[in-house]
Amino acid sequence: MRSIRLWSVRHAGALEILHSLFMRVAPRLRRGVAWLGPQRVERLVAPAERTLKGLFFDCHMCGRCTLSSTGMACPMNCPKRHRNGPCGGVAADGSCEIDPGMRCVWLEGLDGSRRMTGADKFASIQPPADASLRGSSAWVRTIMGKDAVPQDPPPGHGQGHGARERGLLETACRSGRFVVTAELSPPDSADPQDQLRRATAFRGILDAVNVTDSAGANCHMSSLAASALLVADGYEPVFQVACRDRNRIAMQADILGAAALGVRNLLAITGDGVGNGDHPDARPVFDIDSVSLLEIARGMRDRGAFASGRTLAVRPDLFLGATINPFAPPFEDRLINFAKKIAAGAQFVQTQYCFDLAMLEAFMRQVRSRGLDRRCHILVGVGPLPSARTARWMLAHVPGVHIPEQILHRIEQSADQKREGVKICVELIRALRRMEGIAGVHVMAHRNENLVPGILRDSGLTQERNNTTSLPGVT
Ligand code: SF4
Repeated sequence: MRSIRLWSVRHAGALEILHSLFMRVAPRLRRGVAWLGPQRVERLVAPAERTLKGLFFDCHMCGRCTLSSTGMACPMNCPKRHRNGPCGGVAADGSCEIDPGMRCVWLEGLDGSRRMTGADKFASIQPPADASLRGSSAWVRTIMGKDAVPQDPPPGHGQGHGARERGLLETACRSGRFVVTAELSPPDSADPQDQLRRATAFRGILDAVNVTDSAGANCHMSSLAASALLVADGYEPVFQVACRDRNRIAMQADILGAAALGVRNLLAITGDGVGNGDHPDARPVFDIDSVSLLEIARGMRDRGAFASGRTLAVRPDLFLGATINPFAPPFEDRLINFAKKIAAGAQFVQTQYCFDLAMLEAFMRQVRSRGLDRRCHILVGVGPLPSARTARWMLAHVPGVHIPEQILHRIEQSADQKREGVKICVELIRALRRMEGIAGVHVMAHRNENLVPGILRDSGLTQERNNTTSLPGVT
């Protein structure tokens, strides 16, 4: 089956011609299908479509076909059901994060799109899968003209909070000052003090604290509750929402709840596969991907409506963020993916760990040439590697992490590996401060939060902040 799927990608150009012919003929068939009865036609057509598209595309009969926009590679074969480009976990050899025996569906899609004249469609945002259409015929829907993009509800739904007051992270990003965020994983505890104690290392030195959402698919206190605890204690949290664990109903409910509790920043992530976490037996949800989540959150904020179109009484006032990974293949598609996230509403992005400045600079050259750095604040992920052993473990187990051999070698050769890891982190931050288009850094020092103040001091960021900050109440 898979070899036929790859054949389809290799012949995406010819299949595109067939698709265009079908699109031309489809409206002429509408009256006939209406006369026969769409349900009756559906009963005849759906089994044929399932067989044919199953054979050529490993089609999952999602009912809303995207093949002509995804290089003739069916995105439903992605274990995370990404409909908008690859996740950040694609391995260096192009294999899938979740199913290493399979090449990432999106690498196949990119190959296919290069063979198509409508390759620009690859950059368009695809709507999420509609569970109510599962098993139904996309051909009949196309004939009946039901795949038109849904219209946005008219603006003005719901109420805002009056004059919009920016959150502290948004204010810092707009100030032009080099911004600093750091990551805090919520505790395995029902005691709020366990969360707040660990946050004290960050007080007064950051623009915001990212609260991870069961990072690595390991269960912890919910990011919503942990973010609310930080708000109440005077911090500026970034509430992370992973699509892995909740469907669109639960995520929208959480977005409203977070905003009601004073959270002003949201980071949409797809989330790692459950196989790497402490509950590999859990059912991954992946109802929507992070691009769709951004669009939904933006719709709640700007249009005052749920994804269903139902009106909100009061809109959530949020600064929206996403993640990007310039260090994982397909490198060409990373830019497309970044642009999609901006189009979906991302105002800031945080990257995967950066240990390779040359690779980042290559990515940033393309970002700058497309002006994406002027449309979105880019915070680059950095962190101290505590030892060569941990670094090698991260390479093997953390999806999407890239650490050049020379960095590993440098730490291995050092008498004090932890100190060397901090030194490398400081050097990287200093270099990033000089790189055009970079708005700040995002420090990830898991279980080493106490190292963050020293890293910021040695890289000159604390001094810069003390000299320039006149931002009221920045954490
Ligand atoms: S690597 Fe990620 S995007 Fe690609 S197929 Fe696997 S889960 Fe999907």
